[in-house]
Amino acid sequence: MTNRTGKKSQRPFLYRSLASYLREVFGQTLRKVSLDPGFGCPNRDGTIGMDGCAFCNMESFVPSHVRADVDPVEQIRQAREGKGDEPFIAYLQAGTGTYTTAARFREMVDNICGLPGVTGLFIGTRPDCVDGEMLDVLRPWLYRKLVWLELGLQSANDATLDRIGRGHNVESFSKARALASDRGIPVLAHVILGLPGEGPEEMMGTASYLARQRVEGVKIHHLQVIRGTRMEELFRAGEVVPLTMDSYPGLVAGFLERLPPFTVIQRLAADAMGDLLIAPQWPDRGKVIETIREYMLEEGKWQGRLYEKGSV
Ligand code: SF4
Repeated sequence: MTNRTGKKSQRPFLYRSLASYLREVFGQTLRKVSLDPGFGCPNRDGTIGMDGCAFCNMESFVPSHVRADVDPVEQIRQAREGKGDEPFIAYLQAGTGTYTTAARFREMVDNICGLPGVTGLFIGTRPDCVDGEMLDVLRPWLYRKLVWLELGLQSANDATLDRIGRGHNVESFSKARALASDRGIPVLAHVILGLPGEGPEEMMGTASYLARQRVEGVKIHHLQVIRGTRMEELFRAGEVVPLTMDSYPGLVAGFLERLPPFTVIQRLAADAMGDLLIAPQWPDRGKVIETIREYMLEEGKWQGRLYEKGSV
């Protein structure tokens, strides 16, 4: 059987996963090592806002070895202890990975990329914290490492971004994406399904926007209500109703159908750490992914199906 990416496969193509992409590029999958660059967040230090995004508790997204007061190179050393020299991807996950000067960013990027075993560098940041000077720092590494820029979009609906206190608009994403494209840097968008005020129409609108942007990657999360966030207050006040597990596979499938088949899907559901999760209480992420796959198989849906028909 030939799948939709032209490769021989025993299984039907449902979506282009990160694991399959890494196997195409490196012949194997690679682990990611999450890091905190220690730059903080402009939506918390008063530069853009003080309260942060309504859904965000930074502790819920990163493993315990990740500490802002420890140099990223030392974080890597601690995380890799006893793991030999197998290749891995360094991932600037916590906070805002480009919220610093170009000189400090360059020093950190060069130090990380110069370490043995570092095969790739993924940088998570806000779209309004990216400019040409910062992206030029990455240029020397582009053809030696797998470099990706991960931009938090969450929704392609300005009213939603306002509602959740993001402090940037959709245009910020479009501009950052264009700056990255000009330099050949792949862009991955983070999105959340089930944000307050959004129904299927708005969520599918975000997928269509990302299809028009022809992004190289997407991480899809369902909205999770995390302890200590403004979303928790809204949830307890009955103003936020999390998605149900029954509705989620259909929403994800619809989202994937609108994306181009080449877009790499790095994530299909959120996975908050520890006991910070309040709602929804779903099965573990592996089970959620299995349910989505079963749904897509049964319903005859696959990534790019609507995109290829031009109906996005
Ligand atoms: S999601 Fe990102 S931008 Fe928003 S408060 Fe958290 S770290 Fe800051």
